[in-house]
Amino acid sequence: MKVPLLDLKRQYESIRHEVLLAVEELFDSQQFILGPPVERLEKAIADYCGTAHAVGVSSGSSALLISLMAAGIGAGDIVVTPTYTFFATAGAVVRVGAVPLFVDIEPDSYNLSPTQLEEALSRLPDSRRRAVRAVIPVHLYGQCAEMDPILEICRRHGLVVIEDAAQAIGAECHGRRAGSMGDFGCFSFFPSKNLGAFGDGGMVTTSSQEMDERLKILRGHGARPKYYHKLVGGNFRLDALQAAVVGIKLKYLDRWTAARQANADRYRHYFADAGLLEIVTLPAEKQDRHIYNQFVIRVPDRRDELRNHLRQQGIGTEVYYPVPLHRQECFAAMDVTVTPLPVAEAAAAQTLALPIYPELTAEQQAYVVEKIGDFFKSPSAHLTAG
Ligand SMILES: *Cc1c(COP(=O)(O)O)cnc(C)c1O
Repeated sequence: MKVPLLDLKRQYESIRHEVLLAVEELFDSQQFILGPPVERLEKAIADYCGTAHAVGVSSGSSALLISLMAAGIGAGDIVVTPTYTFFATAGAVVRVGAVPLFVDIEPDSYNLSPTQLEEALSRLPDSRRRAVRAVIPVHLYGQCAEMDPILEICRRHGLVVIEDAAQAIGAECHGRRAGSMGDFGCFSFFPSKNLGAFGDGGMVTTSSQEMDERLKILRGHGARPKYYHKLVGGNFRLDALQAAVVGIKLKYLDRWTAARQANADRYRHYFADAGLLEIVTLPAEKQDRHIYNQFVIRVPDRRDELRNHLRQQGIGTEVYYPVPLHRQECFAAMDVTVTPLPVAEAAAAQTLALPIYPELTAEQQAYVVEKIGDFFKSPSAHLTAG
């Protein structure tokens, strides 16, 4: 049996007709830059996330970059991010001329640890603590970070909060949607996210009228009006074609999220029935609404061997992420840590993402769990385990 990590073709089949009609309409209009499709999507995403505004941008990475720019963060500033996340979270910080400060994560949710955030801030010498301007909590794998303590710490220290919600559209923390709790919420429409475009795209949510305006000016080279540049921005526009496609997919998002959640529940049953709960750790549900962009298990050792075994059985998996950011070569010359980061180091060696996409079948899931069970039962497994 083949079980790919993600199968977008099956989803496309179910919306093909509707998408092709929308794309045809856009082609007929020949209006490819901003305009009604982008405005409609901005309104729809703001409503969906519970914010006053949303600004369409060219990717999740652009969303992070333009949020930092709008907040006026740049040279001499420090921005805190978890060390266990996709590279873009910290890459954006360096691109505006600031320096990231990496903080450890919670062992069960893999999200930014509020206690470690507090610890890192307290360990900084005064001069450096004054340079800290913002925190970027990441809602990793589709589950919100522990926002209440994080927001409280940020309020106390006067820090801007930029939520990296690229993996978490529709996720909730105490009834509030991802992207509505901080000053900015950053979303990605990369095809593998729960709400994926047919290419790149992204969105920034905010409830500040002032920031909404600033973001819109920045995404078009800082011009307002045209050819009169108030600021130095860039071309960070969301493509109208992508906005049209994402607008259609948004109508189905809650249905797809429910299917991902049902798949997660089914995995829990299958893993329990197979007696595997002593060996692998399943994702912890710590917040109200986990949207399962990824279903990430933790394997105490021989993770890479298991991954190879599954590949040989036709099962796609991925490691998000094999190297924590503080270990990345590009940050080697920067002062990016003040605390040890053992939880992220362990996660990098032990996490494994299994297929969880909405169209995955019960048979495919049973097969995945069976093959994981086989791996831990095989005699060679015992040999190499010793
Ligand atoms: C995907 C992702 C991004 C970047 O989004 P792109 O649209 O690929 O630029 C940023 N942060 C996280 C956590 C992501 O998963």
